[in-house]
Amino acid sequence: MYPWQAGNWQNLTNSQHNKRLAHGLLFHGAAGIGKNAFALEFAHWLMCEQPLKDRACGECKSCMLIKADSHPDLLILSPEEDAKVIKVDQIRELIDKISLTGHSYGYRVIIISPADSLNINASNSLLKTLEEPPANTILILISDKPSKLMATIRSRTQMIRFELPSKEESLEWLNQQNIEKAELSLKLSAGSPLSALAMAEDESLKIRDKLFENWQDLAQGKLDALDSAAMWLKDGFKVLGNLPLNWVSSWIIDMLRDLQGGHIDSLSNVDYAQTLQKLAGQVDLKALYGLLDRLNDTIRLLDTSANQQTLIEAVLIHWAGLKRS
Ligand SMILES: [Zn+2]
Repeated sequence: MYPWQAGNWQNLTNSQHNKRLAHGLLFHGAAGIGKNAFALEFAHWLMCEQPLKDRACGECKSCMLIKADSHPDLLILSPEEDAKVIKVDQIRELIDKISLTGHSYGYRVIIISPADSLNINASNSLLKTLEEPPANTILILISDKPSKLMATIRSRTQMIRFELPSKEESLEWLNQQNIEKAELSLKLSAGSPLSALAMAEDESLKIRDKLFENWQDLAQGKLDALDSAAMWLKDGFKVLGNLPLNWVSSWIIDMLRDLQGGHIDSLSNVDYAQTLQKLAGQVDLKALYGLLDRLNDTIRLLDTSANQQTLIEAVLIHWAGLKRS
């Protein structure tokens, strides 16, 4: 469990001690704060044969099976490889499994993550199990976007909110992980400490530097927007999904802040602040808002199945073609 989850842990273990734990739980809250890890640890504790007051014993048969990833009563359901949704067949298979096979000892725990990826048929198929689960079965649904769940699913679960840790808590934890640029990574990860850790440990910050350099070159007319788009796709989007567009959005928002008299300390991209001020000084406010609108549309469209390459080309062409003084 992460230090910022201690309150959630206490509440849930108390509920269980008092025999008040609901059969369906919905863990929700921002991405990148460790809800999945928490769910696994809680399942582990529920399934332990000799649990201590607030943690699993780590030695019983159940604990050993969980450590070996082979406990038959811990069922984890996610979209299958390359799929975006959890399909109804997966839910049917799950229901067959839990209704046909009894289980040996203690609890059976089903974790569905991300629960907002259940499609409509899968959700409908899950409803009855959520309403009347087999004895000693706990369902844990996990979601960053609980509003995307069917209302009937939400209403059959007890919603457990996981709070984003404070900046101080996150920084203290990140500093214990001995990473460089903890504060910058946290700022670029919208305050999610686990996303910040991943960012600091992988190539994301280097890729961000490369794309930002390209973004500057485009403004100076040094590069062709279509060539740039090919590079963005290959080195950026293939590696990081749509994250680079969130960066571009934050660059533009920083430029808008600057144009509207914001102090340099108010910019999110602290490491690019001076360059962003310079770039902002060359364009006008209205044109920049136009670009931000297009970018927001693009981010929305990329969530559907629209053509990624065409959309990214259009954003870079728009940026390169802004009238500059
Ligand atoms: Zn145990």
